[in-house]
Formats: sequence, structure tokens, C-alpha cells
Amino acid sequence: MKTEIPAFNRAFISKGKESSIKRGHPWVFSGAIKSTDKQTTEGEWLEVLDASGNYLATGYYAAEASIAIRICCRSQGKIPSQILPYNLRSALELRRQMGFPNPHTNIFRLVHGEGDNLPGLIVDVYGKTAVIQCHSAGIYGLRQEIAAYLVSQDIINIEAVYNKSEDTLKSTSVRPEANGYLVGEKIEEPFLENGHVFEIDWINGQKTGFFIDQRENRDLLKRFSEGKKVLNTFCYTGGFSVYALAAGAAEVHSLDSSERALMSTERNVILNLAEGKHANIKADAVEYIKQIANDYDTIILDPPAFAKNIRARHNALQAYKRLNKAAIERIKPGGIIFTFSCSQAVDKEMFRGAVTAASIETGRKVRVLHQLHQPADHPVSIFHPEGEYLKGLVLEIE
Ligand code: SAH
Repeated sequence: MKTEIPAFNRAFISKGKESSIKRGHPWVFSGAIKSTDKQTTEGEWLEVLDASGNYLATGYYAAEASIAIRICCRSQGKIPSQILPYNLRSALELRRQMGFPNPHTNIFRLVHGEGDNLPGLIVDVYGKTAVIQCHSAGIYGLRQEIAAYLVSQDIINIEAVYNKSEDTLKSTSVRPEANGYLVGEKIEEPFLENGHVFEIDWINGQKTGFFIDQRENRDLLKRFSEGKKVLNTFCYTGGFSVYALAAGAAEVHSLDSSERALMSTERNVILNLAEGKHANIKADAVEYIKQIANDYDTIILDPPAFAKNIRARHNALQAYKRLNKAAIERIKPGGIIFTFSCSQAVDKEMFRGAVTAASIETGRKVRVLHQLHQPADHPVSIFHPEGEYLKGLVLEIE
């Protein structure tokens, strides 16, 4: 099925507002649009021109959003069915260059929205299955073409494509179809990350089923795990727990407020034939940490995004401070904390500020050993720093 758009509606940018678009920023805010040829509709593809009528970019329109146009292309005249395969191909080439997939890792992100010139599109690969999440109508309208493209590429060997856009399109006027397979069906196979096996449930799990963005940070945890007693809070599917046990942790406690998450962690620990002791704890992370004896050597703090938008930022920073303060206060002397924020609205300086404030309040000496971020299969356009959502620190507490 091909989406043919015969002629583009054009959006003219107010004088002086075109510079960030020219520089390469992928968003056009509604306030920057002076006029359009005709009434625009949700998801419609538009050509963006400056006030004098010079072509700037092509993107799609999102009604009811302050970001009115999301840019996918900067060469005039290309229609969506030409833009899409070109951008998907570049995303694929980049992953190949990074070495994905490989015999040890068949879990990776193939498309990361703006970072791959496909705003609003996430494609995560789990072995022979690709899970797509559309965050906007423009991309959602192309889902069948995305699926057809993915299964046609021999180099990644995708045989099934699952569309999981029901929830992510809630803020748009689109009435999405129920989540389900666009191509193929469930394939039984092992899912591997750095040689560790994971069970992944994209149908019922959060996001596309797994937090792929922590791959390298989990690997780093191995250096701080041998012989240690580790507390993995907000464990979800237990990624950090599996790596810590594989690296010879004496004991790992995985904590989550969700029973389903703990069951998934337990299965993943068993799948990896871990030798160290493992226990699940169902609790609120802050409440639990506040009452522990200070005998944990390593604590991981990887909460869900506390700030879903800029308005929630202040409260989120307070929540990061409370969580970090509790862990810094209660960790064993010489202990290590892996602390993260995946809130897009909280940048790395703000997050570090919250952790600094927490450290001051505890009165303990804290050193930063590593500064962490999302891995390369979650690329960030240098002109779109907002794309850098995951930030973390490895702290040593005296
Ligand atoms: N670290 C995980 C991803 C964390 S996702 C990984 O590497 O895959 C966030 C998790 O936090 C979810 O599983 C959610 O159930 C859990 N959670 C949310 N609020 C919580 C709370 N107050 N206390 C403990 N867990 C919580």
C-alpha cells in the first residue's frame, strides 16, 4: 500500500523564526507559522518555506500540539513514500556500523525518532521481531509501509512487525487500531543483550517491552558487582540484576512496586542460571531505602520519568533529591550508587544539581566516577539536545 500525496500544502514561517529550522532543529512551533496555503489536518505532510517562499524542509503536521510540524526531510519535492525508505535505510546503516545485530546482542533500537530524522517513530528490534511505536499521526499513517520496508531488508532478518501505538497516540485526534501484528506473528526465539538472555513481552510490558537504553550502563555495573551485595530498585525486567549476578555479585535484591515486574525479573534471573543469591522485594523504593541497614555495597536507582513535561519539573527535581538522599544516607561506606533520570524535561545539569543537593543534605562525601547516558542506538541530533533524555551518574560514597 502506498501513500501518494499529489501536492503539498505549504506552511510559511514568520520572518526571523526560520533560523533554528535552517540550522537543523527538527521542530516547528505553532507560533512560528505565519500562514498555510489551506487548512491543515492532523498528520498531513507539509512543505515548510521561509517568509520569502524559499524551501526549508518537509515534515508533518500535528494539530493540538505546540510543536506543529516535525521535520523529516530537507530536499524539496520528495513525497513521504520516498522519504520513509531513505530515512529507514540510514537508520539501518547506522546500526550496522555500530555492530547491531551481532551474535551476543539481538536487542537494539533501530529508529529513535528525531535522532534518525523520523520524529514520532520508535522501532525496537527483538530478534526477528520489530516493535513499532508511533507518537504522531503523520508517522502512524505510514505504518504499513514501515512494516513492509522492515521485512524486506535481508540484513536485519525481520519476520514479524508488532504495532504498539494505541497508547502513544492518545494526545492526537487519531483513532488508532488495536495493538497487534502488522506482519507475521509471535516468534519463539532467545533475546540476547551482551550474551545475557531475556524474556521480552512487548504485548503487556511497558514501552516496547524492555529498556534497551540501559544496555551499556548494565555492562558497566559488572565492574562494581563481584562479591557485592546489590540493591536494584525500579528493577522492571531485572536487567541490572542479571548483569550483577553474572559478574559474581554475592547477593542481589531486586525491588519494584509491580508484582508483574518482579515476576519477570525472577524469570530472567532463572533463564541466566545465576549462581549468586537473589531475592525480590515488592515495595515503594524510597520507603524501603529509608529503613535499610547500611549493608548494601551497590544501589541502582532507575525510576520512571518523574517529569513527564516541563510543568512537572520542579516536583520531579524534589523527587530525585529525596530518592538520592535516601540512598546516599543508607549505603555502606565506600559504596557505589548508579543513579538515573530518564525525564526529557530534566537535563543533565539539573539532575546533577538535585543529586548534589541530596549529597549536601546527607553530609557524606560523594565522588562522581562516571557520567552516563543513552547508548549510540539512541542517537541525538546535535541541533535537538532535547533528544538526550537518559542521564546518570555513578557515585562513590565515602
Ligand atoms: N531499571 C529498569 C527500568 C525501570 S522502569 C530496567 O533496566 O529495565 C521503572 C520501574 O519502576 C517499573 O517497573 C515500575 O513498576 C517501577 N516503579 C514505579 N514507581 C515505583 C516506586 N515508587 N517504587 C518502586 N518501583 C516503582
